[in-house]
Amino acid sequence: MSDKMEFKAEVNKLLDIVINSIYSEKQIFLRELISNASDACDKLKYMALMNPDLAKASGAMKIVITPDAEHNRLKIADNGIGMNRDDLINHLGTIAKSGTADFVNNVKDNGSEVDLIGKFGVGFYSAFMVADKVEILTRKAGENEAWSWTSTGVGGFEIARAEKETNGTEITIFLKEAEKQYTDTIYLRQIVRLYSDHINYPIVLNLGEKGGEETINTGSALWAKNKAEITKEQYSEFYHHVSKNFDEPWMTLHFKAEGNIEYTGLLFVPSTQPYDLFQPDRKNGLKLYVNKVFISDKVEELLPNYLRFVKGVVDSSDLPLNISREMLQQNPMIAKIRHGIVSRILKELKKRGGDYDDYMKFWNAFGTAFKEGIYEDFENREEIAELSRFNSLNSPDKMISLDEYIAAMSKEQKAVYYITGDDVRVLANNPQLEAFKAKGIDVLLLTDPIDEFWTQVLTTYKEKPVKHISQAEEDFSIERTESAKAKDEDLKKLTDYMAEVLNGEVAKVTTTDKLTNSPVSLTVENGQMSIHLERLMRNHQQQTAFASLRVLEVNPYHPLIVRLSEIVQDDRQKAKAGEMIKILYDQALIAEGEAIKNPAFFAEKLSSYMLAAI
Ligand code: ADP
Ligand code: MG
Repeated sequence: MSDKMEFKAEVNKLLDIVINSIYSEKQIFLRELISNASDACDKLKYMALMNPDLAKASGAMKIVITPDAEHNRLKIADNGIGMNRDDLINHLGTIAKSGTADFVNNVKDNGSEVDLIGKFGVGFYSAFMVADKVEILTRKAGENEAWSWTSTGVGGFEIARAEKETNGTEITIFLKEAEKQYTDTIYLRQIVRLYSDHINYPIVLNLGEKGGEETINTGSALWAKNKAEITKEQYSEFYHHVSKNFDEPWMTLHFKAEGNIEYTGLLFVPSTQPYDLFQPDRKNGLKLYVNKVFISDKVEELLPNYLRFVKGVVDSSDLPLNISREMLQQNPMIAKIRHGIVSRILKELKKRGGDYDDYMKFWNAFGTAFKEGIYEDFENREEIAELSRFNSLNSPDKMISLDEYIAAMSKEQKAVYYITGDDVRVLANNPQLEAFKAKGIDVLLLTDPIDEFWTQVLTTYKEKPVKHISQAEEDFSIERTESAKAKDEDLKKLTDYMAEVLNGEVAKVTTTDKLTNSPVSLTVENGQMSIHLERLMRNHQQQTAFASLRVLEVNPYHPLIVRLSEIVQDDRQKAKAGEMIKILYDQALIAEGEAIKNPAFFAEKLSSYMLAAI
C-alpha cells in the first residue's frame, strides 16, 4: 500500500527551476547526493556519541556508488542516519524545513561540534536535473521499519513500506536517456575526484561481481585535521595535488579563523616561479570549499593579484553551498575572508624575513609580483614595502629592506633615494650617483618595471620621504679637489651653445655641483616621467616620442668642460666644439642605458679622437 502525496507549492517551483537547471554543470547532482550521504553519516556519528549501539549496528561508514549501464541507472548508498516516514515527508516534501539546518541549530544549542554539510535546501532536488525518476529506500538508525519514496519530480511523490536490512539510505536515479554518461565508471571517478575528493568517508565505486569495490576519493579533508596530526609529507602531497606543481612549498600556512566568519585556510607559497606568473591570461585564485564540499576552483576573489602565486584551499561553513560564481564576486563574506588571508600571509612573511638566505628564495621567485602590492593594496602598502627587498648602491652583494636602508642613514639625510633603470650594474655607474657616492649616501637601484609605478604612490615610508635622485633637495656640494673650474661667463657661453647644438634633443642645459667623474649627465625636470619609465612605455608602444623634458647637466669642474668653455669663445673652433658636444650628449645617453641616435657618427668620431691621442 502506498501513499500519494503532493509536493508543497514551493517545492514544485523549485523543481521547475532545478529541472531547467540553475546549475550550469549538471554533474554537481552527484556532489549534492554524496554530500547528503556524508551528512547522514555525520549525523549518525553524532547520535552515536550518546547512543554507541547505533554506530555498532551500522559498521564502518561509507558511501557506495553503483552504476548500472544496462538499465541506465545510478545508485548512491550510505549507512548513515537514514529516514523514517516523517523525515521523508518533511525533508523531501518541503523545503521550508531543511533537516540539516534543524540539525545544525540543535548541535549549536548543545554546543558540541560535528561536521555538517549543506545548509541549503536545493541539494537533493538537483538529482532531477539528470533523472526521469528517483527512488529512495531508507531505514532510520534505531528503528525497525524501512520506507520507499518515489517521484518523477513533477507534482508529487509516493511513500510505501519497504524492506531494508540495515540503517541508511539508497537513492536510485533512473537516468534520462541523454544522461547515460553517469553510468560510465571513468566519468564517475572523474567527477568524484573533482568535487568530493575530500569527503571524510570512503566513496566506493561498486564495479559489480567481477570488478569488486574501489575507493575513489583520496580521503579526508587535510585542512580540517589538527595541525599536530599532519606530517610534512602529507602537506607536501596535498600541495602537489592542489597546485599541480612538483616543487616543495616554500611556505605552508594552515590556520583556522574564528570570529565573525569562520573559515579554515591551507595555503602554500611555492618555492619556484611558475613560467606564466606574468602572463595576463593566467588563472589564479584559491580552491573554495563549503564544509568540505568543493564549490569552485581558482576563486580569484579570495586573493589579491599581487599574491597570485599563493595556492591552496579555503573552507568556510558560513557560506551557502549553492553559492555561484557571480555571487562570489559580490559576497561580502568573501571580501572579509580575503582580507583575513592577506593579513595572515603578510604576517607569516614577516616572520620569515629575518633569515636572509631563506627569504631570498621567496624573494627571487615572487618579489617582482609581490611589489605590485605596494601599488595595488592601499591598505597594506607600508607593510608590503617593509617586506620588500632592494638592491642598493652601498650593498652590492646583498639585497636590503627599507628599514635597513633607514637604519643606515645619517642624521643629515632627509629622504630615501632611488634610481630606476634596466640593470643594477649600469645603474650603479650612472653619473647622477656621483654626488651620492661622494657623500656615502645609499641609493636603491630599482630595475623592475613595477618599480616605476609603486614609487609614484609610496611617497613616504615610515615618515621618510621616498624620492627619485633627481628630486634630491639636499645640499650636495662636494668637497672639491679639482684645481680649476670653468669661468662663469665662459660657462654661460658654453651652455648656451650646447642648448643650440642639442636643440630638439634636450629642453635645457644647466650646470651642476653633483657630478665628479663625468663631464655631463642627463636628468629630467622635477615631476617629469623618469627616463627609464619613458623607455618602458616606448617598449610597450605606449608612447612614441619623448614625453619628459630632459635636462643636460654640466660639470663645471671637469677638465674637458673647462677646456670646452675656453674654445667656444673662439668662433673658428666652434664647429669642432659642436662635434664634441654631440659626442658628450651620446655619452650621457649611453650612461642612462638609452640608445644613441647616430651610432656611426659616434664610432667614427671616437676612432679619430683615439687616433689623435696616440
Ligand atoms: P540539505 O542537505 O541542505 O539539508 P537537501 O535537499 O540536500 O538539503 O536534503 C534535504 C534533506 O533530506 C536533508 O536535510 C536530510 O534531512 C534529508 N536527506 C537527504 N539525503 C539523505 C540521506 N542520504 N540520508 C538521510 N537524510 C537525507
Ligand atoms: Mg544537501
